Amino acid sequence: MKSKFQPDKNGYFGQFGGAFIPELLYPNVKELEDNYIQIIESEEFQKEYKSLLKDYVGRPTPLYLAKRLSQKYGAHIYLKREDLNHTGAHKVNNTVGQILIAKKLGKTKIIAETGAGQHGVATATVCALMGLDCTVFMGEKDIERQAPNVARMKMLGAKVVAATSGSKTLKDATNEAIRYWIQNPETFYLIGSVVGPHPHPDMVARLQAIISEEMKWQLKEKTGKENPDTIIACVGGGSNAAGAFYHYFDDEEVELIAVEAAGLGVSSGESAATSQLGEVGIIHGSKTILMQDDYGQIVEPYSISAGLDYPGVGPLHAYLYESKRAKFMNATDQEALTAAYELTKIEGIIPALETAHALAVLPKMDLTKDQVVVINLSGRGDKDLEIYIKHLEA
Ligand SMILES: *Cc1c(COP(=O)(O)O)cnc(C)c1O
Repeated sequence: MKSKFQPDKNGYFGQFGGAFIPELLYPNVKELEDNYIQIIESEEFQKEYKSLLKDYVGRPTPLYLAKRLSQKYGAHIYLKREDLNHTGAHKVNNTVGQILIAKKLGKTKIIAETGAGQHGVATATVCALMGLDCTVFMGEKDIERQAPNVARMKMLGAKVVAATSGSKTLKDATNEAIRYWIQNPETFYLIGSVVGPHPHPDMVARLQAIISEEMKWQLKEKTGKENPDTIIACVGGGSNAAGAFYHYFDDEEVELIAVEAAGLGVSSGESAATSQLGEVGIIHGSKTILMQDDYGQIVEPYSISAGLDYPGVGPLHAYLYESKRAKFMNATDQEALTAAYELTKIEGIIPALETAHALAVLPKMDLTKDQVVVINLSGRGDKDLEIYIKHLEA
């Protein structure tokens, strides 16, 4: 039986999704749409993908029972350690998969967008691995803010192109990537989250689904049951949450919690809590919930964490919100910083700032002592050290 959390044949999750693209891109998107499921489900792809995930990325990632964190909050809290992947986050699960799909389709030139640079690095990494040409679009402001990741991409052989329009951040980099794609439709757009025109959101969700596929057998091994009571993940575009939730969508007894960045506070005017502030609209090729003004112009999002600083969510998440299958919570900059310090001090793990938002909802929950909670630890905090140190001194 097909899950209602998989898109229909036109790429819709409920009322959300679709492919709102200019005609020039149609053949390219159609080619991908006609082939992606068949490629992903083929034995040849699965063999290559699983072998790279194992020996190159370092999967399966551990499912770790965080004893001191559990003691503090009075529940059984497990951390799914995506921070231990090669390149430091879940993003590489997707880039490894998409680069194999691009190769099967005979593509030789790859483009990508990036905000903080994590997806840019994960894309440049797999392009180096496969010897493919790589161009990454990045906002001019992010290029300045994220110098180490820019250096990594360049060392990996990628060309980094500055997006100089608008706020010069992620949404502008995405616009620039789409503009380039229209002019060069033979390139493969290796998108970094469950966003963009169909089939990109579904393709990325399928490639991140390895996270919950592993969680099932790891929980079975550790607790005797495949299902936890609760899964918590942070949401920027929504790819790590999609991966952590994927194999549990139809197990309605598993509570799914998506955590958005509240920035300085949901009503402060400086926030990225899309589900709370957004309305239905179209962004980057799909119909979803996004932050916009009365004229349909995009409202600039804000979060301390560059990976959550996006004015929309993917269409799957808009549907999870509308259908109430997932509960949407949020955490402010300050709550995330506090949670990051807490995990570091009591478990010896420095999480990414994005991930810290997921950890930050623990004090807001009514946990019970037998409750099994899995938090998707989407990435490591090395890239955020400068911000952490600044707040340590403050
Ligand atoms: C990019 C990123 C995110 C946000 O992206 P999603 O597509 O919502 O997962 C979250 N955590 C980390 C560590 C990231 O690098």
